[in-house]
Amino acid sequence: MMIELRDPTLLHQAALIDGTWLPASALDGIAVLNPADDSPIGYVPDCGAGETREAIAASMAAWPEWRSRTANERCAIVERWYHLVIENIADLARIMTAEQGKPLAEAEGEIRYAASFIKWFAEEGRRVGARNVSSPERDRRVIVLTEPVGPSAVITPWNFPAAMITRKCAPALAAGCPVIIKPSEFTPFTALALADLALRAGIPSGLIHVVTGMPAPIGEAFAASPDVRKLSFTGSTRVGSLLMAQCARTIKRLSLELGGNAPLIVFEDADLDLAVRAAMVSKFRNSGQTCVCANRILVHDRVYDEFAGKLAAAVSALHCAPGLERGATVGPLINAAAVEKVRAHVDDALGKGGTILASGGGRDDGSFVRPVVIAQASTQMRLAEEETFGPVAPLFRFGSEAEAVAMANDTPYGLASYFYTRDLSRAFRVAEALEAGMVALNTGSVAMEMAPFGGIKQSGLGREGGTQGIEEYLETKAFHIGGL
Ligand code: NAD
Repeated sequence: MMIELRDPTLLHQAALIDGTWLPASALDGIAVLNPADDSPIGYVPDCGAGETREAIAASMAAWPEWRSRTANERCAIVERWYHLVIENIADLARIMTAEQGKPLAEAEGEIRYAASFIKWFAEEGRRVGARNVSSPERDRRVIVLTEPVGPSAVITPWNFPAAMITRKCAPALAAGCPVIIKPSEFTPFTALALADLALRAGIPSGLIHVVTGMPAPIGEAFAASPDVRKLSFTGSTRVGSLLMAQCARTIKRLSLELGGNAPLIVFEDADLDLAVRAAMVSKFRNSGQTCVCANRILVHDRVYDEFAGKLAAAVSALHCAPGLERGATVGPLINAAAVEKVRAHVDDALGKGGTILASGGGRDDGSFVRPVVIAQASTQMRLAEEETFGPVAPLFRFGSEAEAVAMANDTPYGLASYFYTRDLSRAFRVAEALEAGMVALNTGSVAMEMAPFGGIKQSGLGREGGTQGIEEYLETKAFHIGGL
């Protein structure tokens, strides 16, 4: 498949190490496939430990000069990166749709969202500062300094090929840290285009690297290197836990944004139209392949039938088609393994008493899975326990607030939770009782640059975005001054 771009030089079939584009032909190439039809879009090199160590060494060499610049100088360059991303939004979105599958309008939305982190951290980076601590003695002062943590390894998933990169790299660069990116092997081209734009903006070549390839040797090289001072990972809980164990050897700073199993609770006093609109956004964006998507929809007995009817009508209007096709509202899933998992969850639910209440239109073959609503879902089903990561909306029943909260919290995950009510007392009670890093009342969206994003329990460690996001890339140094 050819991707038609205004600026074809943004498509790099290469890794980026210390300002040099290492072509796929130089090492065994990995094919990157279009999930809509499995056609190859291009190839990237299968880098290993050697290339990863080169990128780490180049980062260490480039770090002192970058950290010695003023925050204003660094942030002005990061802000130029933001403008270049916005100027190239159409090309970046087309690259993303080609390799990831999401409808073009959604891809453009993700590029805007990704860019918002660059702008935000270009601003936040200017506000990082020292703090005076009250001194115990007259001739002494104590100042708490903040310093960049150092070379940071960034490992990202395929479901948000741009935003997961900028949410990490923008605060790291603004704080004064070099970044070495290992994008998902399914979606490297968006990462490479973003890194190219960062270089064009004036980020020095030793400050941003993209090491493409199969993950295990690259991850092991990151974990083993004492020069990698920080590892920021977004992906599954399984791989997050593995990386955490590997990083124990070198005691690295870690941020882990992992899987979720978000509940969406519809109480009996909810505005049902609002709840349906929000459930549609939360559940079906990116074909249900988001860590914060409503995995379990819990509905009060009294409004179950009415809510189910309204949701069924909305889902019937969805159309499953290739992301570049006009009218596509749901794109393909990322690959055959994803399709297999989603179909297995549906079959398991149907075998345990669930029924299909409605389904969307369009394609239902290859990587395409039509959206469905499953009624009479129960906690014995796989879709209650695992992330389905697909366009399946299971409806569970509950009878009381306490039961709903207990069901919502009955998971090892704790990323996002959503609930719908018009009762103010209940709003506070439930928000405080839900075990999650993000709780949303009467809205289906929790992702924005100015709010901290992250999970508790097995959904991870640390926060991205907000004022917290840059702290993940800063060290604290206490400076004691005596004899004054
Ligand atoms: P994944 O864990 O399979 O892969 C994520 C990244 O880790 C990829 O770059 C992959 O190549 C790499 N990786 C895989 N094995 C590795 C290894 N042994 N060593 C080093 N790196 C390795 O996840 P995925 O399928 O790409 O993404 C989906 C998952 O990501 C879901 O669980 C989703 O919930 C989660 N996610 C979480 C957030 C969040 O902010 N919490 C955001 C998006 C996605």
